[in-house]
Amino acid sequence: MPIRKLSFLFVALVLLITQFPLGANAQNGNADCSNLTDPSVEGWVDYEQMVKSLRQIEKTSFGRVELDVIGQSRLGKDIYAARVGTGDRVMLVTSEIHGNEKTGTEALLQMLKELGSGNNPEIQAIRNNVTIVAVPKFNPDGADLNQRQNVFPWEEVVNTFPQLKDAKRAWYYSASRGGGFDVNRDFNPDLNYEPRAEDMTKDGSQPGFFLTNESRALRNLYVNLKKEFGEVEAYVDLHHMGACNKNEGSDQYVTVSLDYPPLGPENNPKYKQYPLLDQEKSRRYVLAAALGMKDHAGNGNAETSPFWGGASRYFHASDRDLPGQARSSFALNGTATVLFEVRGQQHNWGQKQKGMLTKAVKNGLYGIANRMADGSVDKLNGNDFYNLPKYW
Ligand SMILES: [Zn+2]
Repeated sequence: MPIRKLSFLFVALVLLITQFPLGANAQNGNADCSNLTDPSVEGWVDYEQMVKSLRQIEKTSFGRVELDVIGQSRLGKDIYAARVGTGDRVMLVTSEIHGNEKTGTEALLQMLKELGSGNNPEIQAIRNNVTIVAVPKFNPDGADLNQRQNVFPWEEVVNTFPQLKDAKRAWYYSASRGGGFDVNRDFNPDLNYEPRAEDMTKDGSQPGFFLTNESRALRNLYVNLKKEFGEVEAYVDLHHMGACNKNEGSDQYVTVSLDYPPLGPENNPKYKQYPLLDQEKSRRYVLAAALGMKDHAGNGNAETSPFWGGASRYFHASDRDLPGQARSSFALNGTATVLFEVRGQQHNWGQKQKGMLTKAVKNGLYGIANRMADGSVDKLNGNDFYNLPKYW
C-alpha cells in the first residue's frame, strides 16, 4: 500500500479514536463541573422538529411505526404516541413529563427509527415479541418553554372542573410562570378517578387528581393498552437529574441513575388494596436497563467497564412515598415501572457529551426491550439491583 494511503488511514484512525471514546463513562467523567450554567434548549429537538422526525420515521418504516395523537396540551399542541412492534408484551415509555428534561426524547426518536427501519436479529426479535408505545414529548408546552411544569392557570382548572370553584389549589400546582402543574404528581392509581373538591387539601403522600390534559391523555392510553393486551407490562419514565452528582466513594460522575417506584417501605400496609403491586418485579426491569447499559458500555468488555456502563441507583429512602407519580400509580396497577434520571447536560459540554448521554439512555431502553423479547427479564433476580452503586 502506498505511504500516502497508509498515512491517510493512520489520520483517519486517530480521528476515529478521539471522536468516539471507548467507554461511555470515560468520556462522561471528564465534563467540567466547575462552571455550571442554566441548561439551555439550544441543540435539542423542539416540538416541530420532533413532529417532522416522527412523520419521517413513520413514512420510512414500511408501516411498522404508527403515529397516534393521544390528546392536546392546553396551548393546543398534539401529544404524539408512536407504536412499533407486534408482540404481546407491552412497554410504554414517556419522555419530557418535565419539559426541561430532554435527553430521553432524542433517545426515543433514535430508537423508533432503528426499530422502524432496522432488520438485524436484535431489532426483529424486539418487533416480533414486544409492542413499544413511546410518548417522546409528553409535556409539549413545558418543553417549548423549557420548564418543568405544564401550562394550566388555576382559573382554567376551575373552568374545566367547576366542582373545584371553592376548593384549595392542588399542592403540586405552582402559580409561577403563569401557572401550571408538576404533571408527575397528577396521577392516581384509581384509573377512574375524577377530581373532587374535598381531595384538594391532600399532600404528596396521597395520589394526584388527573387535572392536567397530559395525565388524562396518558391514563386513557394506559387503559386502552390494558384492554387490548390484558396488562401494560412495563412503563419507563425518562428524566434528568443534576449534572454533577458523583457515585458513592468515587470520583465518577453519575451517568444514569435508575429506580423502582417510591411507595414507602416494602410491603407497605397502606397499599394492601393494590394486590398487583410488585416492587421486586419493578426492580427486575430496572436491572434489565442497567444490564443493557453494561452490555453496550464499550471496550468490548462489560466486566471491566466502570459502574455497569454508567448505571447507578437513584435515591430511594424507605419513607419516600409518592403515589401521584405516573410510575407509582401504574405500579399499583401491576405494571413494572422504571425511572431513568440521566445526568443533566450542560451547554458548554457540547454535542459529544450529549450524544454519549443519549446513547446511555438508549442502551438502557434496549436492555429492557431485549430482555422482554427473549423472556429473560422474568428470570432476573430483582434484588441484584442493590449491587448497583448509589450516588448519594
Ligand atoms: Zn424530572
